[in-house]
Amino acid sequence: MIKMILVKCLYTGLPHPRVRVIRLIKRNFNFLPADVKSVRTVVSPDISKIRNIGIMAHIDAGKTTTTERMLFYSGYIRALGDVDDGDTVTDFLAQERERGITIQSAAVTFDWKNHRINLIDTPGHVDFTLEVERSLRVLDGAIAVFDASAGVEAQTMTVWRQAEKHHVPCIGFLNKMDKPTANIDFCIKSIKEKMQTTPILLQIPVGCGKNFSGIVDLLTNQKVIWKMKSMEDDGSHYEVKPLDQTDESALLQAARKARATLIEQVADLDDEFAELLLTDFSENFDEVPSNKIQEALRRVTLARKGVPILCGSSLKNKGVQPLLDAIIAYLPNPSQRHHDIIQWYKDDLCALAFKVIHDKQRGPLVFVRIYSGTLKAQSAIHNINRNCIERMSRLLVPFADQFVEIPSMTAGNIALTVGLKQTVTGDTIVASKASAAAALRRVQTKMGSKGDAVDVILTGVEVPEPVFFCTIEPPSMAKQSDLENALFCLQREDPSLKVRVDPDSGQTILCGMGELHIEIVHDRIKKEYGLETHLGPLQVSYRETITQEAKTNDTLDRTIGGRRHVVSVELTVGPTDDGGPSVFTIERELQKQLPPDLNSAVENGVHSSYLQGPLLGYPVQGVSTLIQSVNIEPGTSPAMVSACVSRCVQKAMKIAGVRMLEPVMSLEVTVGEHYLGSVLGDLAQRRGTVRDIQSRYNDKVLLATVPLAEMMGYSTILRTLTSGTATFSLELDTYEGMNPQDQNVLLKRLTELL
Ligand code: GDP
Repeated sequence: MIKMILVKCLYTGLPHPRVRVIRLIKRNFNFLPADVKSVRTVVSPDISKIRNIGIMAHIDAGKTTTTERMLFYSGYIRALGDVDDGDTVTDFLAQERERGITIQSAAVTFDWKNHRINLIDTPGHVDFTLEVERSLRVLDGAIAVFDASAGVEAQTMTVWRQAEKHHVPCIGFLNKMDKPTANIDFCIKSIKEKMQTTPILLQIPVGCGKNFSGIVDLLTNQKVIWKMKSMEDDGSHYEVKPLDQTDESALLQAARKARATLIEQVADLDDEFAELLLTDFSENFDEVPSNKIQEALRRVTLARKGVPILCGSSLKNKGVQPLLDAIIAYLPNPSQRHHDIIQWYKDDLCALAFKVIHDKQRGPLVFVRIYSGTLKAQSAIHNINRNCIERMSRLLVPFADQFVEIPSMTAGNIALTVGLKQTVTGDTIVASKASAAAALRRVQTKMGSKGDAVDVILTGVEVPEPVFFCTIEPPSMAKQSDLENALFCLQREDPSLKVRVDPDSGQTILCGMGELHIEIVHDRIKKEYGLETHLGPLQVSYRETITQEAKTNDTLDRTIGGRRHVVSVELTVGPTDDGGPSVFTIERELQKQLPPDLNSAVENGVHSSYLQGPLLGYPVQGVSTLIQSVNIEPGTSPAMVSACVSRCVQKAMKIAGVRMLEPVMSLEVTVGEHYLGSVLGDLAQRRGTVRDIQSRYNDKVLLATVPLAEMMGYSTILRTLTSGTATFSLELDTYEGMNPQDQNVLLKRLTELL
């Protein structure tokens, strides 16, 4: 038959059938799958065979390289990319290629040993912690990739804390074992101390530095060796052989010791395993079968009592296949994770939209995680948050920047939908309005009056306040609406990006999480929307607060279009105890007397005064307002009530005395000892406070706090100071009151700018 087709092709001039199949798929789906085989295998798998995994790490630890190797060994890409050449699959955004860092969480699906792995490559840069949080929200397990020569670094700590918040079980991968400074003992100690967890070493390295050639699997007592025949060897082939027990080498002794520690640790953390040891293997731990250790380790990992640790070198193509095995062996399948929501929907659809990306041809593509039921292509869904029905045209499985179309997807999976126009990141998607109502009824039957509509919604991701802002201008007025559209799309994708219009100047203001964040947005507007925009100088987002109490009153008497509006207000403002978000109350009797629309008018007035403080127009924080009296003459509009209240709050704050608050960042710099002096000297000029200096081999790790305003362009300066050898990370610590001297300098500088 095949022969016949080939002969026919020869005569008709048609391409080879395999090529035609690919072309057909390309035409129909408009996407090119990596291999025809992948189309056949992309079906919704059995839930026990799914692993939804994230990779978390400090920037440069090797997430991208590791992801790339995973895709290669699982057969989804044919050649290895190299992050240093900027051609890896997951770094598909052009900016990421240029910068060599991973910004957007690209979801990648691949199969390994009959299991479906949905992998989210999360960003390591601190400007993008929200991306990490968003992906952790929908994942069931995570791999923490460490640079084996650096141990736990700042960003890993941040992501680890986020993983803990979502109770995500983890395994650790000590990457870069080929570096001469790689040190397993140091890493284990650092994981134990900094992450407050129990690392359980499952492998020890064979050879070190340049001679690192593989690992000893402590469960099976086998040596796994990658014999690299040439520089181009891709590491697909490796040798597995038992450790020679007769040879009393240092490796054998190290392996025996490490295996005994592993067994003791697992026994300490898992009673079932401890019992098995005592009853069956008390004499000889060497006899404990590897599958029994593995089962116990799985229980320990799922209960988050410990973290299995593996090692390897992604760049040198060693140790990645055992890491893939470990994902299957130790990380949970979706049914092993507890999600309250599933019980209310039973077998009805319930999914969370966790990421939106904009595709030029296909419009918005929404990544969804399905918690229960089945999502079908060409069907209508109900978005609970937006209270709307949307039609989904197609359903895709993401393969980095290529997608494969499928008819339906079941619970536990991650999929990409085409056609949802209103859904934004964080929305809950269900089959229909009736199904949401049925879920709510089930909640209320079970919980009585405590049951609430929020119980049938999946909680989204908390969006941190942006710390930087700048103005953005289109190349010409005619392009203003194009810019607005670009910003609208980018905001749907990235809730940490805020856009507002300055009420005084009418300028569009871009607010973001860091210098790099704003720069990336600027680049994307240029590359993806073809707009050359102009950014104003980057400014720090300060806050305003008050330190004392003040009581005042105000009257507004205005005639507009022959109608007289008269309202007078009396109120007291004061600092809140915790300095957190500003609050307000209306005296109880007054609240009862005011009709609902005027109550809301008062509330709006207070909130609008909190948006722009009286000193420089920054948001107001840590203020509480008590409305004591409001007298409104008949015919006065609610808008006038709001205006009067707002003016009165501003007046009271001025009387109380406004104090500027500035964002203070926690800074971690890793630097060689001989450069420490210059980094410290520079930091002193930036109003920095050193909290600790720790040692890491020949390096020093400097922990400090420093006002954000002093950190503009720090990466360039640090590079110059240390000849490019230092690395740093910066994260918002708190908003701190400025001393009068610094505040005066700031006021002078900013008012000159205005
Ligand atoms: P990411 O920022 O965590 O995604 O890290 P990348 O995968 O982009 O890698 C950062 C740098 O480390 C690149 O220069 C890689 O070539 C290098 N790298 C990654 N894995 C290894 C490794 O196993 N050994 C060594 N020596 N370098 C590595």
